[in-house]
Amino acid sequence: MHGPHRYTSLLLPLLCGLIFVGLCPPALADADRLAERRALVQSLRGVSPDLMIDDPRVRAALLAVPRHRFVPERLQAQAYLNKPLPIGYGQTISQPLIVALMTELAEVAPHHKVLEIGTGSGYQAAVLAELTDRVFSIEIITPLAHQAGNRLEVLGYHRIQTREGDGYYGWPEEAPFDRILVTAAAAHIPPPLIRQLRPGGRMVIPVGPRWGAQTLMLVQKDEAGETTTESLLPVRFVPLTRQPTD
Ligand code: SAH
Repeated sequence: MHGPHRYTSLLLPLLCGLIFVGLCPPALADADRLAERRALVQSLRGVSPDLMIDDPRVRAALLAVPRHRFVPERLQAQAYLNKPLPIGYGQTISQPLIVALMTELAEVAPHHKVLEIGTGSGYQAAVLAELTDRVFSIEIITPLAHQAGNRLEVLGYHRIQTREGDGYYGWPEEAPFDRILVTAAAAHIPPPLIRQLRPGGRMVIPVGPRWGAQTLMLVQKDEAGETTTESLLPVRFVPLTRQPTD
């Protein structure tokens, strides 16, 4: 009796463990990767004294969003490195530091209505959705728009509204927006986006030539409707493309 009983007492936890792993692989995988997310978010704080990711809400948002679910499967191992990754169609998911920085600069509050131009993978939209329930995002490449829309649904981000189209023109039916983030580099700040910014609003946008020297800019509209523009730092984004208008 003594022998088999001891054997069973060892087997049972092992069996339970196996059943648990078998039943919950995604949950366990995500739990594992939380440690990687923690390490990444921690590392972003020290990248440069000028680029502190200080806002605890932004850090919590980055910890909450499983970036590996936003990249192609073969690149998932690299999802928690601080680098951009290809997402197909010549586009990229931005570097985590840039996402963190743009989100921090946007100063999103829970009641804000936020517009993102360039849905791409949907990752930045998900980060924004951790800060407010009112996120709208436009993507110009049809398959990317569909993929991101589906992915955000599957991951439970039901409130994010996505649309296919040329974000240069913004989303007039939903304007004005408290915050606008543009995640592709524009040759100039699109006037429709300035018009759709609410007084008191902020827009973060990379501006510059295609593949050339681009600058991240902060546009602020005061309560009187006057805008001021500030150049913040050199960046490199894929270009804001335009739909042919004929
Ligand atoms: N924010 C994305 C990264 C986007 S890369 C993410 O988190 O993954 C920039 C995206 O902007 C690309 O998907 C590109 O197709 C899109 N884009 C380029 N020009 C656009 C335009 N005029 N309107 C909307 N989206 C555009």
